[in-house]
Amino acid sequence: MRGIQTVRQLFVPAFHSGEKRQAWFLPCLKIEDKPAFEHRGLMLDVCRHFFEKEIIFKYIDLLSFYKMNILHLHLTEDQGWRIQIDQYPKLNEISSYRTEKDGSVYGGYYTKDDLKEIVAYAKERHIVVIPEIELPGHSQAALAAYPQLSCNGGPIEVVNDWGVFKEIYCAGNDSTFIFLETILLEVMEIFPSEYIHIGGDEAPKFRWENCPKCQQRMKEENLADEHELQSYFIKRIEKFLNDHGRKLIGWDEILEGGLSENATVQSWRGMDGGRLAAEQKHYVVMSPTSHCYLDYGLDAIDLKKIYSFNPIPANLVAENHKYILGAECNMWTEHVPDEINLDSKVFPRMIGLAEVLWSGPDTSRYDDFYNRLQKHYPVLELFDVRSGMENNPFGMQVIEEDNYYTILLTDMQSDISAKWSIRNNQERETTWFEYEDSNIKLMSSGTLLIQPTKKGKNYGAVTTTNIALHKATFADVLYKGEWHYSYPAKGESSLTDGLIGSHNFRDGNWQGFWGTDLDVIVELREQSEVSKVKMNFLEYSNAWIMIPKDFHLAYSLDGILYKPLEIMHTIHVGTNAQEGIRINPFILDVKPTQLKYLKVNVENYGKLPASHEAAGQDAWLFIDEIIVE
Ligand SMILES: [Zn+2]
Repeated sequence: MRGIQTVRQLFVPAFHSGEKRQAWFLPCLKIEDKPAFEHRGLMLDVCRHFFEKEIIFKYIDLLSFYKMNILHLHLTEDQGWRIQIDQYPKLNEISSYRTEKDGSVYGGYYTKDDLKEIVAYAKERHIVVIPEIELPGHSQAALAAYPQLSCNGGPIEVVNDWGVFKEIYCAGNDSTFIFLETILLEVMEIFPSEYIHIGGDEAPKFRWENCPKCQQRMKEENLADEHELQSYFIKRIEKFLNDHGRKLIGWDEILEGGLSENATVQSWRGMDGGRLAAEQKHYVVMSPTSHCYLDYGLDAIDLKKIYSFNPIPANLVAENHKYILGAECNMWTEHVPDEINLDSKVFPRMIGLAEVLWSGPDTSRYDDFYNRLQKHYPVLELFDVRSGMENNPFGMQVIEEDNYYTILLTDMQSDISAKWSIRNNQERETTWFEYEDSNIKLMSSGTLLIQPTKKGKNYGAVTTTNIALHKATFADVLYKGEWHYSYPAKGESSLTDGLIGSHNFRDGNWQGFWGTDLDVIVELREQSEVSKVKMNFLEYSNAWIMIPKDFHLAYSLDGILYKPLEIMHTIHVGTNAQEGIRINPFILDVKPTQLKYLKVNVENYGKLPASHEAAGQDAWLFIDEIIVE
C-alpha cells in the first residue's frame, strides 16, 4: 500500500489531473523505502468545531497519500460531544450542542454508522482511527447532560468559550466509572484500534479538593494528593481497557501521580514528558507544542520548523529510542471554524512532518524537500485542499530617513513578492503598489496593508499593520527587570519601533511580562514637550493576559532627578473582542511638560481573580509600544 503511494508521488502532478493517457512512464529506478517511525499521525479536534464526515474522508485520503497511518479523532470536549452513545442518549441530545454567546446553537455528532463508515474507509487506506474520549477533565459537555457525575451536582452547561474548565468527573462516585466504562464498551465496538485515547490532560483539581466523595476515595485508597487521585482514575480505566484487549494512551499529564502499568504517553508539553516515560520503558508518541501544533500560526511553527523536528529527545539514551513510536500533528480547532481554515492550517505543514516520520529527521534535506513540495500544490488542489503558507512571507522593519520613514519587508523568500497599500478611510478602493526595495514611505502614522504574492498569485491573506510615528520613535529604552523570554517581541527596541500589535499575541509586536510590572525609562532623542502617553494592552483572559492595574509616570531633564508627571485624564477605549481577544488603548493625557527622560511604570494585574479558571495564578501583561506625543 505504501509502495503504491510512493509510485503515485513519483507521477506528481500529471497522474492526478485526470488526464487520460495510453501509458505512463517512469524512468528506470529502484525504490528502497521503509518508515523511520511506526506511528505517523494527525490528531483532529472535531469538538471545538465539528467537521462533516466527507471532510474526514478527504483527510483520510490525504493521510494515506502522504504515508501517514494514524487518524486520532478527539471526540469529546467541554464544548461538545461528537459520538453517538446509545445507552446515554442525552450525550447527543444535550452534550452535542452548545448555545453560542450570540444565542445561536452550534453542534452535531457522528452517528455510529458514520463512524463505522469512517473506520472502514480508513482501513481500506491502511489508516487506523484512534478515538479519544477525554477524562477526567475536558468533560463539561458530558456533565451538562449528567450533572450527577460532577462533584457538586451542577447545574452545568456545555461550554461556549475556549480554555480549561473546572467541572470534571467526580472521582469519588462509582457511577462515574460505570458511566465511562459503558461508553468505552460502545466506543470499542465501533473502533477496532489497539489504542484507546483517554485524554487525561488539563484536569483542574479544584472540585476534587472540595468534594467529600473525592476526599473519601483518597482516604480509602491511601492517596496522598489529588494528582494520585487522577492516577487512580486513569489506572482504573486502564485496567478496564486492558481487560478488553486494548491499550491506553493519554496526554503527558497521566505521568503525574504515577503512570499506570502499560500506558502509552502522548507528550505535548514539550519533549520531557515523553523522555521521562521512555526512561520508564513506556511507549511514547510525540506532539510537542514547539513543533507539532498546527493550530499555532506560522510565527510559531513554520514549514522549516516542523521539518526540523526530531521525535527522539536529544537527551534520551540510545537503548530507549525504541520506546518513541513516532509523532502526531495536533490540530486543535478553537479558531478553525471551517474546512478552508482547516486546510490552510494543516497544509502544507503536515507534509513536512509526514516526511520526517517516514524518512527520518534530516534538516540538511530541507531545500530538497521544499523544491519537491512545490510540485505537490497542483495535486493538493485536485484533492480540493486550500493550502496555507509555508512561512511568514516577510518580517517588517521601520527605518528613519531625513524627513520620512521607510518600511522594509525583511526575510522574504526568493519566490515571494508583495503588493502594498496605505489604508485611507476616505477612499473606497484600495490602490495597490508593487513592493520594490524601499518604496514604502510614510510621513506620518498609518495603516499598512501587505498582500504577499507567489508566482503572480495572491499568497495568503492581506496583513494589516498599524504604524505609529511619534516623539519617542526609535528612542532608547532602559529596562529595570526583563520581559518574559517567551514573548520578547523585538527585545529592547520593541516598545519604540513604531510597530503596533494585532489581535494575534504571537505576532512579534507584543512584549509579555508574567507576574511582573513593566518598568522602563524612555530616553527621547531630544528634549520635547509631552502632553500624551499612549499604550495598548492586550486582554485575553483565557490566556491569562489581563489589562494593567495602574500607571505611574515620572520625568527628568538630566536622567538623574525625576519628578512625577501629572496624569490629568486616562482614556480607555477597548476594541471589540475578537474570539475573546481585545486590544485596549490607554491614552494618558498629561500636564504638558518639557522632558528628555520618561519613566513608565505599568502595574501588572497581579493574581488572577477568583472568578477566573486559573484563580490565584500570575497574570500576563502584554504591551506593544509606548507612544509619546
Ligand atoms: Zn468528587
